[in-house]
Amino acid sequence: MREKLKSRRKFLGAGAATVGGAFAIAGDTGTRGAEQAPKEKSGIKITDLKTATLRANFDWHLIRVYTNAGVTGLGEAYWGAGVEDLIRRMKQLLVGEDPLSVDRLTTKMVRSMSGAGSQSGATVTAISGIEIALWDLAGKILGVPVYQLLGGKYRDAVRVYCDSGEGKTDDIGSWRERAQFVKSKNFNWYKFDCDGIPKDRARASQPYTRRADGWNRLLGEDDIRMIVERVTAAREVLGDGPSAPEMSIDCHWSFDARDAVRLAEALAPLKLIWLEDPVPPKNWAAMKFVADHSPVAIATGENLYTKYEFRELTQEHACDILHIDVPKVGGLRESQRIADMADLEFIPTAIHNVASPVGTLACAHVAATIPDFLALEWHSVDVPWWAETVHYDGPVMENGFIKVANRPGLGVELNDEVCRKYLEKGSTYFE
Ligand SMILES: [Mg+2]
Repeated sequence: MREKLKSRRKFLGAGAATVGGAFAIAGDTGTRGAEQAPKEKSGIKITDLKTATLRANFDWHLIRVYTNAGVTGLGEAYWGAGVEDLIRRMKQLLVGEDPLSVDRLTTKMVRSMSGAGSQSGATVTAISGIEIALWDLAGKILGVPVYQLLGGKYRDAVRVYCDSGEGKTDDIGSWRERAQFVKSKNFNWYKFDCDGIPKDRARASQPYTRRADGWNRLLGEDDIRMIVERVTAAREVLGDGPSAPEMSIDCHWSFDARDAVRLAEALAPLKLIWLEDPVPPKNWAAMKFVADHSPVAIATGENLYTKYEFRELTQEHACDILHIDVPKVGGLRESQRIADMADLEFIPTAIHNVASPVGTLACAHVAATIPDFLALEWHSVDVPWWAETVHYDGPVMENGFIKVANRPGLGVELNDEVCRKYLEKGSTYFE
């Protein structure tokens, strides 16, 4: 038994431990590296902005904003080509500015970069990461947590769901194996992908005997049957009773509206909490067709930028749950604004997230401030060193929850030694 436990811990990686049924994901705990709030709050100016990109399952674009008071702010932007360069270009807009004017500085970046598309895409992503760093910095200067600056928290711990991917192959045993692996992490919600079933779908250059081929958005009866069988296998492993974990399914914008409804009808008996991104983004009318006809709640939003792209989605009730990406959509305050728009229509908000602990904790801070909040994604079940990249006071995550720290800023600092190990080729470490 002891040997079994030992090998299991080794398997889970140094940053994770299972003790008495609890699963904790901890970095190098403690407050080492934490910065003290400066005694004199006035006259503080931004002096520099630097970046580092780590290579994990996604690129993690980390940002540090420096001041003449010695205190720095840490942020993270969503991955994407050109994002790191855009972040560095933004430095000239910030140096010499008062770091406490976060909204004003964010608007300055948006307006100054409007010709570079600051209402959508990589420019918004770059601004999002800097905005997060500015909130961390403001919190450290004032000696309060970011959630406090955002209006205060509704909850101490934010529910996290585990992105679980899919089986390695189409074999049902492979799906059971994957479900077994993620179940050991002790979350109370798992999300699986269905758009890769069958595996050769994306590679097919010739039409199948099925309705679908590698290019169209159709789902044949065989495709739907295959998806339902594999999701059912995962459900069987996770359990089906009243205390069984929740499940949701991601379609990655793959299907047409009518076939998405057929898929939702077939999956309905599995009691999914949501079906995600059934049709391509930016067509709210198609999304509304699915939401209106689906027996399963429809979640969408991770591919949209700024509050403007959420207008029809919320006003027209084109989805049942918003699923926003904070270090991509415009940052912490823009996320609050979007959640407020959703709240007008009684649509709950959830958060899509593929970030390092820095971006994830930023998401947790804003999630704590949104009253009608559902859950925050965690996408690093296959990155055993995820939490080792930071110093944090206590486990970053435990049993599917993140407790937001009552510490200045985001309450997290980088473990420079570990981060340097995973630096993306071509990136420099805050130089
Ligand atoms: Mg998704």
